[in-house]
Order: sequence, then structure tokens, then C-alpha cells
Amino acid sequence: MSETQVEEVEKDDLYKVRHSLAHVLAQAVLEIRPGSTLGFGPPISDGFYYDFILSEPLTEEDFPALMQKMKKIIKKGQRFDREDLSAADGLSRIGEMGEPYKMEYGAELIEKNNLETLSFYRNGPFLDMCEGPHVHTTKDIPRDAFKLRSVAGAYWRGNSDNVMMTRIYAWAFLDKETLDAHVSAYEEAQARDHKKLGRELGIYTIDNDIGKGLPLWLPNGTIIRDELENLAKELEFKAGYSRVATPHLAKESLYHTTGHLPYYAEDMYPPMELLESALDDESDEGGSGERLVKESYRLRPMNCPHHHKVFSAEPRSYRDLPIRLAEYGQVYRFEDSGAVSGLVRVRGMCMNDAHIYCTKEQIKDEFKAVMAMYQEAYGILGLDKFHVRLSKWDPEDPKGKEKFVDNPQAWRDSEQVLEEVLNELAIDYQVGLGEGAFYGPKIDIQFSTVTGREESVSTVQLDFAVPGRMGLKYVGSDGEEHTPFCIHRAPFSTHERMVAFLIEHFAGAFPTWLAPIQVQLLTVSEQYDDYANEIVARLRNQMVRAELAPSNDTLPKKIRQGATRKIPNLLIIGEREVADGTVTLRRYGHQQQQTFAMADFEHRLVDAIKRRLPEVDAD
Ligand SMILES: [Zn+2]
Ligand SMILES: [Zn+2]
Repeated sequence: MSETQVEEVEKDDLYKVRHSLAHVLAQAVLEIRPGSTLGFGPPISDGFYYDFILSEPLTEEDFPALMQKMKKIIKKGQRFDREDLSAADGLSRIGEMGEPYKMEYGAELIEKNNLETLSFYRNGPFLDMCEGPHVHTTKDIPRDAFKLRSVAGAYWRGNSDNVMMTRIYAWAFLDKETLDAHVSAYEEAQARDHKKLGRELGIYTIDNDIGKGLPLWLPNGTIIRDELENLAKELEFKAGYSRVATPHLAKESLYHTTGHLPYYAEDMYPPMELLESALDDESDEGGSGERLVKESYRLRPMNCPHHHKVFSAEPRSYRDLPIRLAEYGQVYRFEDSGAVSGLVRVRGMCMNDAHIYCTKEQIKDEFKAVMAMYQEAYGILGLDKFHVRLSKWDPEDPKGKEKFVDNPQAWRDSEQVLEEVLNELAIDYQVGLGEGAFYGPKIDIQFSTVTGREESVSTVQLDFAVPGRMGLKYVGSDGEEHTPFCIHRAPFSTHERMVAFLIEHFAGAFPTWLAPIQVQLLTVSEQYDDYANEIVARLRNQMVRAELAPSNDTLPKKIRQGATRKIPNLLIIGEREVADGTVTLRRYGHQQQQTFAMADFEHRLVDAIKRRLPEVDAD
């Protein structure tokens, strides 16, 4: 039983096994929940599911019993027998089965496709309207290569006007090794999921009264944002960038000049229309009552046009170039409400943006410097597994003239420069034909995540078109006006994307410099709180985020709570520590403890934070 919207899966052995297992599951469910009725039960990319209206609820606690029943059925070697009935007989058969949802679907199939027959499969006592194919007998199903996964609610045929059914998901493969590998990768990804950890660690929240895709950063998440921002500011300062600050919105007409409108309209929030009376209070007195739109504003979907205007705010000479303008700029994109999710697909995001304005001759050195900054930044974060793609235009693309600025010479020239940059830096790369931005080629940085996903985190783009459209000029050494090139870059991407990525990368256990709480003091008994509080004050004076563990809990409980919050450094304080002026360090994920003179530990800690080391050096 499958409907067309279900992912197309090859009808190979694996498909047959998954399909057959769906029948086995349904048979087992009907045994433990007699009187339940059936929805769809198709194979999916890693297993199968089946939808039910259950006579009595079922939870994951019933899985062991259900699995046992399924294994028993498999052992019986029930044969899958096909029977084709005329449309009329088929429908009356479904009537006998007492399956109203199958009846609805069967009748629709006959009507839509002009079917003359309906096919049924029987295995043992279980009968299902189904097209197959299946394995020959249930004995052909590997007994140790499937596992029930979860129970979820699902509307009949995916329509929220319909009844809510209970969907049971299962993994299924051809051998146990593949199943085990799949299950452990899934569990690892679940444990690292940024939505789960984002909630548990107090990093962000989404509130319906604020709006979909508009995350609120909680105190712990704000610390992580600030630390990333500090790092970016330092790297940019050293590389000769200037910081600017620009508003979140602009007149709509600006985006017509840049070329974002009308093409990009779907991705932007709708216009905010300023009416005549709102602009000029007197004009509406005794007027016709009809208020005209005087100006429309848009929330900005990118920072570039604002930065371009900063560039053109003053006359520029070739001697001023390159000019590098940086801003952690807030932008808004109207993501489809179905696509909005966690921190990864949002409608409001803050971007580690900068635009470098330079002459043609400077492009290469600027690009090299940007790539060096990317490597340094990712090195600090311990993200060494990235690969690089050079994204070009596609001159053969029939729609190329809509997707890309029509200037073949400029494309060839700028692609060549980027190729030279990558070759001279000995950076391996792949080519993405037709993946360029509309205004020029780009270098995309893609990471393999810890759980094996590929993720595009960041890009560097060369823009040979928009500065011209916006009339940006500088006076060259020849005394003539020229249009600068623009490099768009954002090594830390957006806070939203980067923090989501880092939560999953570190599984929430951030290195000391990034951690919301860097040090927590745990006293063996309340009588040592004074000493511990002195240490907290001393560390906070050094801008270290230190706190005393609250509560009268026992030490083991305090240690467990520190671990749950993934605090990188726990300092245990007891009688000996107070007497000797020491602290005993227990680092996150380590069992062994080590005692330091307080001054020594303080030095190591401050040094690790300043140098952004992965952890405090305890050798
Ligand atoms: Zn089937
Ligand atoms: Zn830009």
C-alpha cells in the first residue's frame, strides 16, 4: 500500500523486504489491538511505516512485544499470495474486511485510473489491498535487520482536515550490520540535534507570539554569539577591515536598482507602505480620505546594498583601495513556513558579513587573504574537515541569461582569478557548474558534519556586476573613474547557522572559551562556600564566566548536574583545597581529577580562554 507522494524507492530486494515487513507489522498490530483499522503502509528510504486507527493506544513501550510477534510471524514462513479481483468484487472484499480508509482509497483508484481489477495479497491470516511486490514467504525476511523506531501522529493522506492516525515507523535493511550502523548514526544525530540541545542548554527559543523562524537568543546562546562575534572582530581588525553599522531596512526602490527585485521578491518580507498622512500629518486634514502610498520599505534580505552606500558616501581614490567594510548585520528572508526549522532555516538571521572593494589587480591578494582568514577561523573552531567548491556560471544553461549576469568575458576573467587563487594556495576543489551567484563566481566551503551530513556553511563571492549597477566609482591612477570589484565574504556564516552547526559539532560541550559557563565551583560542604565564592569573584574579575554550584546537593549530584549542563571545567573544593589554597579540576568528559595551586590554575585558564584552546591545559 503506497501513495504516490511517498518517496520513490527502487523495487529491488530491499523494497520487497520492507514492503513485506509492513504487512507483518500490520498483522502483529491487529493481533495485539484487534478491531484496529488500516491506513497506508509504504516502504521509505530507511525502512517502512504503517498507519493505523487503533482500537486502543499503543506506545513505544509496546515495541518489544510487537517485535516478538513480528519475529514469530516471520518464522512461520507465511506465503504471500496474490489475488486479482474485478473492481466491484474488490470493493466488496474491502467491505468485508471492514476497512473504511482502504475502501475510500480503492474506490478512488478505480475511478481515477479506470481500473478493472484490484489486487490483494494474503499472508497467513492477513489480507491487504496491495500491488506488491513482496518476498516469496516471510522466511525470506532477515529477522535481525529491522527495528521498530517510533510512534507518531499522521493525518490520513497527509491532510489536516482528515482523521489523525497512529504511524509506526521502523528501520529495515538486508543485514544486521547495516541496521546497527544506521541506528547508531541516528541515535548520535538525535543526541546532537541542535533543537534538542538548544532547549536543554538554554541557547535559544522560538515563541509563536514573536513569529515563526524568528529565534530569541537566551542568555547562554547570546554568550556564544558574542564570543563568535569577538573572534570575527579580532580576525577582521588584524586583516584591516573597518566596521560599519547600518539599518535593517531600506526603501524598496533600492532593491530594484540592485536587481534583487522583482526576482528575489518571494524571499523577502512584503513591503511596509508608508502612507501620505503618516509622512505628513497635515496633508490628510479634510482630504478625500484616500491615503496614497508615498514610500515603500523592505526588511533587508542582505547587507550588501547598505555597504555599497557606505562605500559611495565619500569620493574614493585608487589609493584608498582596498576598502573592507564589516558588520554583523541582521537580515530577514521570508522562508516558506514549511521550510522554517530550528536555527537552520530561519526568517531573521545575523550575518558575519563584509564587503571588500578593490581594483581588478587586487582581487587575487584579497581573495587569498580571505581564504587565509577562513582557514584560521575554522582552525580555531577545530573544523578541519571542509572541502571547497568553485561555483561557476553555466554558459550552456538555456536559462543562463536569467540566472546570471550576461557578460561572458567578465565570467571567464573572474573564474580564472579564483582558479589561480585556489591553485596557488594548493587548495583542492571541485567545480560546481551553474552554481555561481548571479553577479559572479564564488568559492563555497562545505563541511562533513560529525554525523556524516554534507553542509554548505559559507561562501566567498566575487561580484563584477552590482557595484556598476549601483554606480560605485573610484578615481584611478589615470585620473579616470572606474567601477570597483566587490568581494562578499562571511566565514562565520550567520549566527543562526553557525551556532546550530557548532552545537551539533561539539554535541553541546563547547570549548572553554565558547562555553556559556566556563568554570563551576562545587563545594564538598557548605562550610567551604566562602573560599569558593572568593575564587568565583577572582575569576569573574578576569572576565571568566565562573559560578558556584547552587543547592545543598551532594558532591556526586553536583558533578552529574555540571556534566548535564556540559560545563567544561568543574572545580572541586573541600577541606584540603581550602587548607592548601588549591583547586581540584575535573574537566568535562574526563574521569581523572587534578589538583592545582589556585594561581597556577587561574593562569592556565585565562591563557586557554585568551588563546581559544580546545580545553584548559592540565599537563
Ligand atoms: Zn504490500
Ligand atoms: Zn554581500
